[in-house]
This record gives sequence, C-alpha cells and structure tokens, in this order.
Amino acid sequence: MKEKQIISNIQKGDIVTLSRLITMCESSLLEEQKIVQRIIAHFYKKKIKSIRIGITGIPGVGKSTFINMIGKKLTAIGKKVAILAIDPSSEKSHGSILGDKSRMHDLVKNKNVFIRPSPAGEALGGIANKTKDNILLCEAAGYDIILIETVGVGQNETKVSKLVDFFLLLMIPGAGDELQGIKRGIVEMAHMILFNKADGDNIQHANIAMNQYKNALNLFPIDANGWKTRIKTCSSLEGTGIDDVWETIQLYISMMKKNDYFKTNRKNQEIFWLHNHIKEELGRKKFLEMKSSGKISQIEENIKKKNTSIYDILKKLL
Ligand code: GDP
Repeated sequence: MKEKQIISNIQKGDIVTLSRLITMCESSLLEEQKIVQRIIAHFYKKKIKSIRIGITGIPGVGKSTFINMIGKKLTAIGKKVAILAIDPSSEKSHGSILGDKSRMHDLVKNKNVFIRPSPAGEALGGIANKTKDNILLCEAAGYDIILIETVGVGQNETKVSKLVDFFLLLMIPGAGDELQGIKRGIVEMAHMILFNKADGDNIQHANIAMNQYKNALNLFPIDANGWKTRIKTCSSLEGTGIDDVWETIQLYISMMKKNDYFKTNRKNQEIFWLHNHIKEELGRKKFLEMKSSGKISQIEENIKKKNTSIYDILKKLL
C-alpha cells in the first residue's frame, strides 16, 4: 500500500490499516519502522484533541474489569476509545495481561473501541517508545480517549507516566502496600488512587483504606500545577464510583488546560522521549556532548515553539 493510501485509510479510522501500522511499528525491521515514522511525522502537525490515561496496578487488582466498565461508559457518551496494554512481564508470566481479555467482554465487539495488547520481550524503554507511537496512530485514526494499561511492578510507572496526561493507580483494600509493590514514588506520580472492589463486605475496608491514604497524602505537598491527588473507591464489577472517576479526570484536564500545564506537560514529555531516542540511537556519550555544546537545548526550543516531530529532528541528526 502507498503511504498516501495508508494516511487516507487512517484518517477514515480504518482499523485494519491501524492494526497493520502498529504491527509495523513494533516490527524489528528498520524499513517498516521508517515508514511508520514518516506517517507519524505527517500526523504530528495536526491538532489532536485526545486524553491519554494511564492505568496501573498489580495483577488481579481489576484493571481489565475497570477498563471494561469505564470503556462502556465512555462509548455510551459517544467517545471512541483505544486501549493499549503494555505487559513488561509477559515473557515471565506468559502474558498475564494480554492473554485473557474476557473481562473486557462489553468492549470487544464495540466498533468504537480498539483493543491492542503490546507484547513485551524488550526493555520497557523500547516498549514505551513504541507505545508512544501507537498512541499517536490511534489518535490520528480518531480515537479520543486512549487508555494505557500496564502492570504496576515498580519501575515501569515513571516511563508510563511520561506517556499520559492522567495517571491512575488502582489498589485493593486490605492488601498491604508492600504486597502491592506500592512505593512512595508511584503514589506521588498518581493523579488519582482508586480502591477497587469496594462492594459487598469490602465496602468498609475500602473506606478505611481510602481515609488512611487521604491522611497520609495530606503530608505530601500539592503538585506545582495545583492538583492534589484524589483518593476514591469504586466497584468495577458493579459499576459504582465509575462516573466519579470520569468526572475527576475531566476536572483535572480542564484545570490543566486553563493553567496551560496540559500543553507544557505534553511538550516536556516529547523532550523526555527525544532524549531517550538520542541516547538509544546515538549513545549516551554523544548525548552528553550535544548537551554541553548547547545543541540539545536548541532542539528543545524547536519542539516547544515549532511543534516539530521527534522523527523529523532525529532524521536531521542522523
Ligand atoms: P487485572 O489483572 O488487574 O486486569 O484484574 P482483572 O480485571 O482480571 O480482575 C481480577 C479479578 O478480580 C477477577 O476475578 C474480577 O472479576 C475481580 N474483580 C475486578 N474488579 C472487581 C470489583 O470491583 N469487585 C469485585 N468483587 N471483584 C472484582
């Protein structure tokens, strides 16, 4: 297929082309990656109104069930939802996150939902690099909410948080923080902590856990952007609390758009990924040289002011 045709198909929201492009993006063939990068650079200049939401938590916390419920809600209000699942542990666990999508049963047949698991097998930096491209492709194909699901195992969150506008940490009441791999860093990164499975006998436990976290987080400073991490409960199985989650996300986005943090944050994320690309493709030594010569800050200015795509910049550098 010609590149022009691919672009036109993507603009029409053709999911066969979208899936094929994502496969090419994840391919180890350099030539295929180059095609995708040219296509991404094409879409880069277009103004895209989307919300990128990261969802993390240990296996079994209810991520799939939660996504099924919120996905149902979002499509009911006319949104197109793309779900990208990254599973950095898939090699060891044989794809715990990827194999069984039966808990997203309400979404699999919905034509306004696109679900794409990304198998691991590389370092997370690599996976996240590709996920970033996959997000852009989904946005170009008309998806306005992008949900990025990842297993919270400790080190991944930093990179995932650099891909999204809103970062949601799912927890279960009763299980100790240690057990859930919750470290201070993750809690600080989350815009919302949600105690799932708040149903039946568990409601009381969930409320206790929520209040304990609220007290603990009172000791944390408010983010520079004015946001204070919200702590709530929900039942993804019964659907309670899900409306509240969506309202909180909307509140966050509107606040961040008003104070301009939304745009600044996305630009800063671009810069983060550009650094990552340069280090991967040219090496850390070269990166440091470019930094001390002022080249890096020059490129950063280009990203901030001219909306230049990472791939256009890399093409020139290479
Ligand atoms: P994931 O591994 O984080 O994606 O978790 P799943 O969505 O696969 O859920 C793990 C198990 O928890 C399943 O048996 C779900 O039915 C159950 N589960 C998920 N959410 C809830 C909830 O809100 N309440 C209850 N009682 N069970 C839930």
